[in-house]
Amino acid sequence: MISGSLSFTEELGQRLRELKEELNAVILAHNYQRPEVQDVADFLGDSLELSRKATQTQAEIIVFCGVDFMAESASILNPEKMVLLPELNAACPMAAMITPEDVRVLRERHPGAPVVCYVNSSAAVKAESDICCTSANAIKVVNSLSEEEIIFIPDEYLGRYVASKTKKEIVLHPGFCPTHARVRAGEIRFLKEAFPDAEIIVHPECTPEVIALADAVLSTSQMVRYAKESAAKTFIVGTEEGLLYRLRRENPGKTFHLASSTLICPNMKKITLESVARSLEKRQHIITVPEKIRRAAVRALDRMLTIKQDRTSTSD
Ligand code: SF4
Repeated sequence: MISGSLSFTEELGQRLRELKEELNAVILAHNYQRPEVQDVADFLGDSLELSRKATQTQAEIIVFCGVDFMAESASILNPEKMVLLPELNAACPMAAMITPEDVRVLRERHPGAPVVCYVNSSAAVKAESDICCTSANAIKVVNSLSEEEIIFIPDEYLGRYVASKTKKEIVLHPGFCPTHARVRAGEIRFLKEAFPDAEIIVHPECTPEVIALADAVLSTSQMVRYAKESAAKTFIVGTEEGLLYRLRRENPGKTFHLASSTLICPNMKKITLESVARSLEKRQHIITVPEKIRRAAVRALDRMLTIKQDRTSTSD
């Protein structure tokens, strides 16, 4: 490259920095975003970390590089701020697997059982729930409730994992993450044979068969910490491939193998550097939640955010 000239990516990065300053904006990016989007983020993390960050920022505009429910959560918690989702069709299929009506039916069938709602859900579903959770604090949230029977929505696999770690009776809903559900136990076994010294770390959205093979069941942020602290040099990673960019960058002496080449969430990849710049330039797409739904949903989110985190919990 000729000295003094900028690549297209560098030019966009510079434009984004100018826009952020001019507009008092902040970019939050999920660990599954494209590498170039991760590189321009002010904060990178899992859904819980980003939810917390959204409540702490002084910025007037939040650009949320993630999927629909994450931007909705940021808007629910920050009604006075403008929350932008650069790609309107970046939508989580798991969140679409349950409706408010489904929650009401579950309540009728299980009177008295509180509803614990994984944050991968719409604002309207959160509004029907008693308390939210992430995979970070799901076990803690469930154990914090006095009732013995708990309705857990919408992720059946996370619900099964939680059920295996608590004494509560968990009522499940058949939702799932199509990306994590694609990992096969056979793929993990194959990789373990090829790399016998590797540690297997997987996300709790994986199937029980995959979870049974794991050395550790971890959130994306926990995977980042675990990889740094572990004496192991090689890891088989069962989560969306975007995290491997961060794992490799922060652990240059270690090797990370994706558990399955299918571990790519097409919705997380819809956001590009160009769409982030366009989003700021045109203030699109503004995510808002109707006030009645927002007020009900914020109760469930706030209740979750008051629960103290520890390093043994996992998050998306
Ligand atoms: S990785 Fe799964 S849970 Fe996360 S946004 Fe994609 S489909 Fe939804």
